[in-house]
Amino acid sequence: MTAPRIVWFRRDLRLSDQPALCAAAAQSGPVIPVYVLDDETPGDRRMGGASRWWLHHSLDSLNRSLGRHRSRLVLRRGDAAKEIAKLMRETGACEVHAIRHYEPWWRKAQGRLAKEVELILHDGNYLLPPGTVTTGSGDPYKIYTPFAKSARQCLPARHVLDEPSLTNPDEWPHSDTLEDWGLLPTKPDWAGGFGKAWDVGETAAHERLDDFADVVAEYDSDRNMPSVDGSSRLSPHLHFGEISVTQVSDRLARHTGQGADTFRGELLWRDYAQNVICQFPDYPSKSYRDYDDTLWRNPDRGHLIAEDLRAWQQGRTGYPIVDAGMRQLWATGWMHNRVRMMAASFLVKHLLIDWRHGERWFWDTLVDADYGSNGVNWQWVSGTGVDSNMFPRIMAPLSQSEKFDAGDYIREWVPELAELSDAQIHDPDDGHRPPQYPHRLIGHKEARERALAAYREMKAAQ
Ligand code: FAD
Repeated sequence: MTAPRIVWFRRDLRLSDQPALCAAAAQSGPVIPVYVLDDETPGDRRMGGASRWWLHHSLDSLNRSLGRHRSRLVLRRGDAAKEIAKLMRETGACEVHAIRHYEPWWRKAQGRLAKEVELILHDGNYLLPPGTVTTGSGDPYKIYTPFAKSARQCLPARHVLDEPSLTNPDEWPHSDTLEDWGLLPTKPDWAGGFGKAWDVGETAAHERLDDFADVVAEYDSDRNMPSVDGSSRLSPHLHFGEISVTQVSDRLARHTGQGADTFRGELLWRDYAQNVICQFPDYPSKSYRDYDDTLWRNPDRGHLIAEDLRAWQQGRTGYPIVDAGMRQLWATGWMHNRVRMMAASFLVKHLLIDWRHGERWFWDTLVDADYGSNGVNWQWVSGTGVDSNMFPRIMAPLSQSEKFDAGDYIREWVPELAELSDAQIHDPDDGHRPPQYPHRLIGHKEARERALAAYREMKAAQ
């Protein structure tokens, strides 16, 4: 019988528009789909808790979909490159197909594996292969706007592929069970709200896209309104590759108008983030402007940040919009984009806490936690990145909350404030604060002045 081919799944947990699977299936031999839970290769970028919850359900769903082809997902645990090479020896497989990934640890693992076995990498998780959109002089873009303008000229870069039919091996290699991996939280089970908020897997991703297609025309205005369900909520599905961004783009291609156009621009932020980590692999942990770490309050210099950081993480800052966002994040693993911006800005500017603390918290608690997108957005908000807001531009969470009509959103996530009127709810410390809701950690004016003074001091010392 022809030697089997291995398909190495990572953040591409789907059967349709899966170029690695299609390429392996197009040959005459059997296909062995495998996922390796690798906590070693990413080092301190081991997958966070919320992502593990999602991964469990996504792998379960993929395995059930493979069952339609009488196929199955082989589960292995350990150093991915070593485990794949071992599986090749065990099964006599002749080559490995995988979608190319750009996180620095995956780039290294791909390099190591390619030295040992025939590894064939495919593009497929981005609208355009990261690194291929370049300036006239051939350099990668650092700034989003010219990147997006140039990228739009090259789209669509490829066509959606159908789910292939699969040939199975006579004998299946050993597989762990999902339960062996303990990806779901137990003591305590903090993910109770996740199951209510999400349906996981490829079918659910397409259903969500169908629902979003009905409202995409309103996206341009509604996406900024936390009380309105106006964005796609596709981010975890896209992150885990349960649906490809090409499928999303293709499904909406016939939608014209500002809503769909703005949405296409947001999809390009996802591509842009990968381009940034291709150029700067340590971007999610290193400031890229001339910022000095003296800007942030720092326990090593006697500043007490632990309590403020905890209050922010737990949604007890006394700023309703920030608290609503942080509580939504804890309960569901997701936060509205505009509220992410406000919550992140509050940590960095109002509390003067190093953005990396926030990036790490999001990494652990978001179901869409993404090395590129998270790092790029944190640096953008903090004013520390290659393409970012200026640090002295400080968001005003109380007036932003009012401007974007966040009353119902706050009522949902901060029930202590549910009885307050629209006029009172954004700023309850203004005389309407129920006793069980915390005082502001710091007043807006005071926080703004402290942040600007720290910035001036840091600049003067440079
Ligand atoms: P929609 O508005 O429907 O957008 C569609 C898709 O476009 C998203 O699913 C996402 O894949 C992509 N997208 C939209 N906005 C952005 C953006 N600013 N940057 C990158 N991609 C974008 N997004 C993540 O996917 N993972 C993260 O870890 C992440 N961390 C963030 C951290 C901070 C501090 C901030 C301000 C934003 C972060 N984002 C992150 C971006 C954005 O908040 C989410 O992608 C968006 O809220 C997801 O909801 P949605 O699917 O409804 O988005």
